Amino acid sequence: MATGSPAPGIPAASAPRAADLPLTLAEERAARSSPNHGDRRDGLRPDLVVLHFTAMATAELALDRLCDPVAEVSAHWLIARDGEVHSLVPEERRAWHAGAGSWCGQGDINSRSIGIELDNDGRSPFSEPLMSALEDLLPGVMARHGIGPGGVIGHSDMAPGRKVDPGGRFDWLRLVRRDLALWPDVDILSIKEEGPCDIGELDSLLTEIGYPGDAPHEDRLAAFRLRARPFFTGAADATDLARARAVLARLAEA
Ligand SMILES: [Zn+2]
Repeated sequence: MATGSPAPGIPAASAPRAADLPLTLAEERAARSSPNHGDRRDGLRPDLVVLHFTAMATAELALDRLCDPVAEVSAHWLIARDGEVHSLVPEERRAWHAGAGSWCGQGDINSRSIGIELDNDGRSPFSEPLMSALEDLLPGVMARHGIGPGGVIGHSDMAPGRKVDPGGRFDWLRLVRRDLALWPDVDILSIKEEGPCDIGELDSLLTEIGYPGDAPHEDRLAAFRLRARPFFTGAADATDLARARAVLARLAEA
């Protein structure tokens, strides 16, 4: 790999080969690194992992874009749908994946996070090899930076209304079962209550969970539902309120 030493526990993307043999196109791509990064600002260190989907048809197209200096976007890691893990930006550097937004009242998420792009077009299920590779990658990332399961969030969480990734098809429950995310768990997803809800109370709960306080109610609710109530639409109701209470309780226990 041209990207320096692979992280502990992360296999190199391709086996070493004789120097006189030209790289295949696939090997060249596997050895890519991104020029799109800078210093983390104000001495900030990662305390979040932000998960994304690439919204592109193939990992190759995503690699081209994430490594294109003109695009000015990047992530520390890209996981292809075949499970191959690409290290694009060293974790100590500030990658450019999060953009505008905040979490728990803190901005400049790029300086506070590790970004992981998942090769998914935004409509299809996430592949089993990709999910398995994510489960293998996350524990090392979290251990290296002392990030707990509550610090693993989606791009949609920190940028409601602007971003929807990793989306309603992403299997958060699978990460929760491995202690790689905090919510939603089975108990939260099974909560069902009838009736209206106090919008003011729901909005306070969403802010306490971490959602940006300056985003519109509808956008925050939609972002919350991407994790806590996938594919449900319509006005906020008692189920949203009860699930938000349960998420906060989960955060308080952590
Ligand atoms: Zn994203």
